[in-house]
Amino acid sequence: MKSRILSIIAVLLMLCLFFTGCEKENTNQTDIVSTPATEETLPKVETDNLSFVPYTEYNLEEDVEVKNIILMIGDGMGENIIENAEIIKGDSLAMRAMPHKCYVTTDSLDGTTDSAAASTAMSCGVKTHNQSIGVDENNERVETIIEFAKARGLKTGLVDTQIIPHATPAGMVAHTDYRGIFNVILKHMINAKVDVLYGGGSEYTDTAKMQQRIEKNGYTYIKTADELYESQLETPVIGAFNWGGMYAGGLPSLTDMTASALELLDNENGFFLMVEESYIDITEADLDMDGTIKEMQTFDKCIDYTLSWAEKHPGTLVIVTADHETGGVLVPEVKTPENVTNDLFTSNGEHTSTNVPLFAAGAKAGELFSEEIIDNTDISKIMRQALNDTYGEAEVVFLNENGQ
Ligand SMILES: [Zn+2]
Repeated sequence: MKSRILSIIAVLLMLCLFFTGCEKENTNQTDIVSTPATEETLPKVETDNLSFVPYTEYNLEEDVEVKNIILMIGDGMGENIIENAEIIKGDSLAMRAMPHKCYVTTDSLDGTTDSAAASTAMSCGVKTHNQSIGVDENNERVETIIEFAKARGLKTGLVDTQIIPHATPAGMVAHTDYRGIFNVILKHMINAKVDVLYGGGSEYTDTAKMQQRIEKNGYTYIKTADELYESQLETPVIGAFNWGGMYAGGLPSLTDMTASALELLDNENGFFLMVEESYIDITEADLDMDGTIKEMQTFDKCIDYTLSWAEKHPGTLVIVTADHETGGVLVPEVKTPENVTNDLFTSNGEHTSTNVPLFAAGAKAGELFSEEIIDNTDISKIMRQALNDTYGEAEVVFLNENGQ
């Protein structure tokens, strides 16, 4: 008993150290801002989240029109980090069960992309400058995928392990030429009435001004894992579960947030949901292979859950990809777990221009993703084509200035 208490204390101590260590920032291509947790909002930790989910085959119907799209992004997830995770696991990752695969070119107008320009490309279908969110090279607003989906009557959601207004979720809905103005980006997200906004970043949601905006726009605001698990939630809902972002192991997990979002978004007229595991990139930039593998476990578990959900909800298209590769990750010559080390990072933590993999499953997946190599802007075009085929054309309406 005594040793059990001691080991619990040891784990708690390690967690404190772990979260206070989150201040280290990844500044390459300005994938900035990972903020430390304060003690009062420290998420509970469920160590079950830090294991690989067993590999399962799912049978998602393809011959049905696209009603829902779930776009899942592993920030910085190149092919080789997937393979390294599989060496550690000793089996295929869940995403390999997705029957269609291609590769994606990711460069922005400035060469190697940052997460902002990559998200803009996938969301809006245009190449832009690094740091830019939902604007083109001339700083003109371009229609985001959430604006596109909402114009067709779909519900929308953004789920992230990073702070809610971070670059990748931002590119799905906001418009600014500078990704770092988080208060403005969060304002855009709330004004656009994205139905579900889950992630970290209570630093930004808790301010008096933002609370006013959240309330005026009719949002339910939650801050704890228990509120997510136990409340009878309705949309629109915003959940900021930590002061900063959330590393693997924190609660609610990415899967918890995604499960809640799917439950809330599922409706007759479909939905678009983006889910991002953001800390793959950050741990790669820190040259931390163990940390990266934990983030891969978190992401793959969420993919497995999403595939099982989509199997039961025909008309759902699931896309898994990355915004760019990070770390110039190599695969060891002798593929054993002990060879998966920090030495496999070769780009000094920088993003690279290496093509990233894309996996697709579900409604029309084979038809829509039939090319071997596509550009990241094609992801936007393909999603729009699929939604137009189902829901028809609609006028462009920019949503960032709507609302109160
Ligand atoms: Zn990124």
